Amino acid sequence: FNVPAPVNEPVNSYAPGTKERALLEAAIQEARATEADIPMYIGNKEVRTDKKVKLCPPHDHQHTLGYYHEGGKEQVREAIDAALAAKGDWEHLQWEQRAAIFLKAAELASTKYRYKLNAATMLGQSKNAYQAEIDAACEFTDFLRFNVAYMSEIYSQQPPANSKGIWNRVEQRPLEGFVFALTPFNFTAIAGNLPACVAMMGNVVVWKPSNTQIYSANVLMQVFKDAGLPDGVINLVYVSGPDAGDVIFKHPDFAGIHFTGSTGVFQNIWKTIGENIHQYKTYPRIVGETGGKDFIVAHPSADLAVLNMALVRGAFEYQGQKCSAASRAYIPASLWADLKVRMEQDLQSFKIGGTEDFSNFINAVIDEKAFDKITSYIDRAKDSSDAEVIIGGDYDKSKGYFIHPTVILAKTPDYETLSEELFGPVLTIYVYEDVDWVETLKLVDRTSIYALTGAVIAQDRYAIEEATQALRNAAGNFYINDKCTGAVVGQQPFGGARGSGTNDKAGSMINLLRWVSPRTIKETF
Ligand code: GLU
Repeated sequence: FNVPAPVNEPVNSYAPGTKERALLEAAIQEARATEADIPMYIGNKEVRTDKKVKLCPPHDHQHTLGYYHEGGKEQVREAIDAALAAKGDWEHLQWEQRAAIFLKAAELASTKYRYKLNAATMLGQSKNAYQAEIDAACEFTDFLRFNVAYMSEIYSQQPPANSKGIWNRVEQRPLEGFVFALTPFNFTAIAGNLPACVAMMGNVVVWKPSNTQIYSANVLMQVFKDAGLPDGVINLVYVSGPDAGDVIFKHPDFAGIHFTGSTGVFQNIWKTIGENIHQYKTYPRIVGETGGKDFIVAHPSADLAVLNMALVRGAFEYQGQKCSAASRAYIPASLWADLKVRMEQDLQSFKIGGTEDFSNFINAVIDEKAFDKITSYIDRAKDSSDAEVIIGGDYDKSKGYFIHPTVILAKTPDYETLSEELFGPVLTIYVYEDVDWVETLKLVDRTSIYALTGAVIAQDRYAIEEATQALRNAAGNFYINDKCTGAVVGQQPFGGARGSGTNDKAGSMINLLRWVSPRTIKETF
């Protein structure tokens, strides 16, 4: 690399008595003591409207974190204009200057803003301290540093051959137009990376975060500004999906979308882009990571402790709200009784509550819509003769959106929670006869439309090989004897195919290449 060699940001433990713990607690207190007034950021303006929307922690309805200013189509138009106005200067800046801005943003996120970003993620998205740390502090920083390294590689690549009297070269141009970044609530790092990696490659961006992530998006924007990102390169708007879509997807300069969110929304966006295709100057780049129904399949040779860890952590960390979370597991009958005892012990020992108390492992799900959806599946399982709720099943939304870690035992392999995405702390288990191992692998492959993550837990090397082959297309990130969450930037490029997205691997050169349009130049002497 001809840029600083990237290394993964070290993870703080926040153990009691540490300096980092005190700093994070102070940042939480400060955030709770201040009512934030959150504007949109369009060009060089902070835009406030008369429509102020209240933000509360998902785990504490009584507390007001602040208000954001909601916009409409007019602000989307202004954001596009501001982006296009910034485009000329930005795309002609030397790439090293752009790299420096994002390296500085990484530095600021890992130092000056570390605790503020984590506190905002803990309060706004109900992540516990560890989950916030691996996301907002570490993964966000890793995305920036590794992407700068990949970017330097992309700019250094040239055609391998020149004939006599000829000089061939490739110029990596930014896309012609603006890019729309539509970002999810569940990772502050993803929310920051989707606009940042597009901008890094010389593009200008209109960024619409999920309404339930605006509180930490505002801090991300402060990081970008403090790092010296010029006005108009990333424009942050809070508008409804239809208002954004009506303006953006009809605009002739719409050049691409960088998306993480639900499969249904992504498919509708794709259709809308198709319907408007004749209006655009270029074919828009469509890059999206969508849903998952991620599996863990255990072989009779599995180590029980590893299996239990993979299920408990893979399914329930951050309340199961990672696209990568394990939500269906296939367990051989010979292991089931012992596994159930271990899982019960662990899950019943987890404390549930707000993120301000660091001993709570389980916090709230993101909002009422999510709460109602997840609990409706739990209620149906309680009433069904095809399923049984064997662990958890309780929930309460009076103070916050709390759902106890829940395990459903499915009696048929086509029970609804084995194929549908719930995005919550619910794991469905299907117990198979040990002799049906090979058939079970086929079942895992065909049961869901998704293919994001999955894991095989086995000690038998032949079984590992069988699973690896049989599930070749069932997951874009496949784990052997580990949980299926927690991909690390620079180590496990992340993304899936089938119903899970375009598999343009977040935090990789593949992804960055989607945001440039190469020009080949041949010169003859
Ligand atoms: N990259 C994250 C992981 O490996 C998941 C990202 C997501 O939820 O979209 O756990």
